[in-house]
Amino acid sequence: MYSIMNQFTRNYIDGFMAEVVAKNPGEPEFHQAVREVVESIAPYITENPQLIDQKILERIVEPERIVIFRVPWTDDRGDVHINRGFRVQCNSAIGPYKGGIRFHPSVNLSIMKFLAFEQTFKNALTTLPMGGAKGGSDFNPRGKSDAEVMRFCQSFMTELQRHIGSNTDVPAGDIGVGGREIGYLFGQYKRLRDEFTGTLTGKGLAWGGSLLRPEATGYGLCYFAEQMLATRGESFQGKKVNISGAGNVAQYAAQKAMRLGAKVQTLSDSDGFIYDPEGLNEEKMAFVFELKNIRRGRIKEYVQKYPQAQYFPGERPWKIACDIALPCATQNEIEEADAENIVKGGAICVAEGANMPTTPEAIRIIQGAGLLYSPGKASNAGGVATSGLEMSQNSMRQRWTAEEVDNYLHRIMQDIHSACVKYGKEADGTVNYVKGANLAGFIKVAGAMTDQGLV
Ligand code: NDP
Repeated sequence: MYSIMNQFTRNYIDGFMAEVVAKNPGEPEFHQAVREVVESIAPYITENPQLIDQKILERIVEPERIVIFRVPWTDDRGDVHINRGFRVQCNSAIGPYKGGIRFHPSVNLSIMKFLAFEQTFKNALTTLPMGGAKGGSDFNPRGKSDAEVMRFCQSFMTELQRHIGSNTDVPAGDIGVGGREIGYLFGQYKRLRDEFTGTLTGKGLAWGGSLLRPEATGYGLCYFAEQMLATRGESFQGKKVNISGAGNVAQYAAQKAMRLGAKVQTLSDSDGFIYDPEGLNEEKMAFVFELKNIRRGRIKEYVQKYPQAQYFPGERPWKIACDIALPCATQNEIEEADAENIVKGGAICVAEGANMPTTPEAIRIIQGAGLLYSPGKASNAGGVATSGLEMSQNSMRQRWTAEEVDNYLHRIMQDIHSACVKYGKEADGTVNYVKGANLAGFIKVAGAMTDQGLV
C-alpha cells in the first residue's frame, strides 16, 4: 500500500511539474523553487484529495497579478536609459502582499516569480498576517551617483504607486535596495499620493522606520541557527563561521555571530571573497559598515586595511573549512562542488540568509552528510517579520524600543523553528527543515484559500 501511495505521489509531482514547466517556459529559478516546495508537500496533498479537487497548488503557482513596466530615466550626462520594472503579487490569502524590491542587472521574470513564491511561504511562517510578493528592476545601482539612483527610484515609483498601498501591498528592500533607495521611493510615493502611510518598510527612523529593521534578517538568521544548533547540544561559541555577501544580511549576520562567540572568517561580493584567519571583531565590523554602506566600496579593500587577511578574486568562501556556513549573497551560490567542500571541511550547519542560495544537488549533498540545513524561507524570515512589526508600529503611530523589537524577533524565530520541527521531524528523530518549512507554510496558506472560496 505504502509503495503504491509513493508511486501515486511521484506521479502527482511529475505531472504537476510538467505543467508548471510547460506553462512557464524559460523560468528555471521559478521551476526550481516550485519543485522544492512540491516535493515536500506532495505526500500531504495526495492524502488530502480536497486540495487536489480545489486545485490549491495550481492556484498558488499562478501569481494573482504580475505588473511589468517601463522605467525611463536620465543619467548625470543627460543620456536616456530604459529599464524594466516588475511587481509580482503572488498570494494575498493571509494578508496584504509583502516582499522586497531588488535592483540588480540579473533581475528577470523568473527571478521575480521565484522570490514572490518563496515569500508567500516565508510570510506564512512568520505568524504575521502578510501575503507574498516581490518586485524589482534590472537597474544596476553599482557605480551610479546618488542623483542617478534618485531619478531612477522616482521613475520606478511613478508607475509602482498605482499598484501598492498600506492595505494592499507593502514593499521593502532586497539586493541593491537599502535605506537610501527606500528613502527615494518613499519620498516619491508620498509626493504622488499625498499621504504619509506605512506603504514601504525599511524606512528611516525619523520617518516611520522600526528600530532593528536593518539588523533583523542577519540577527534573525543567527537566532534561528542557534535553535538548530541547540537540537544537537551545540552553539555559536568558538565556532568558525563562513559568510558570503557583504551587504545588509551578511553584515548583521556577521555582527551577531561574532557577538555570540563565533569566529567569522569570511565575507564576499560578486568579485571575490576575503578570509581573515583571526576572525572579525567590532573594530573590523565598523570598518566593513563604513566601507560598504557609506563609501559603497568593494570587499577586497578589507585586505588593504587588515593585511593578515587574504583576498581570493573570482572565488566563493566555501573552500575555507568552517563549522557553520551562512550564505547571505544570492541564489544558487552553493553548487555541488561548494557543498562537497563544506562537508569535507567538517561543517555541522548550513543556514541560509539569502533566498535559495543552495542548488538542489548541493542540498542533497549537505542533507545526505547529516548536516543541519535550513532553507532561507525559514531562517531569513526575520527581515520580513520585522517589516511586519514596522507596519504594526506605523498603524498604531507608535515606536517600540530596540529591546521590544528584538524580543519579538527572537520569539518569531523560535516559533518558526518550532513549526519546522513540528512538520519536519523524521522517523529517526532528525529535523528536515525544508519539509517542515514548506509544509507549515503551505497548510496555513491553503487553509486560508479554502476558507475564502474560489478566488
Ligand atoms: P545587498 O544588496 O545588501 O547585498 C548583497 C550582497 O550579495 C553584496 O555583497 C553583493 O555583492 C552580493 N551579491 C549579489 N549578487 C551576487 C552574485 N550574483 N554573485 C555574488 N555575490 C552577489 O542585499 P541583501 O543583503 O539585502 O540581500 C542578500 C540576500 O538576502 C538576497 O538573497 C536577498 O533576497 C536575501 N534577503 C534579504 C533580506 C533583507 O531584509 N535585506 C530579507 C530576506 C532575504 P556585489 O556588491 O558585488 O553585488
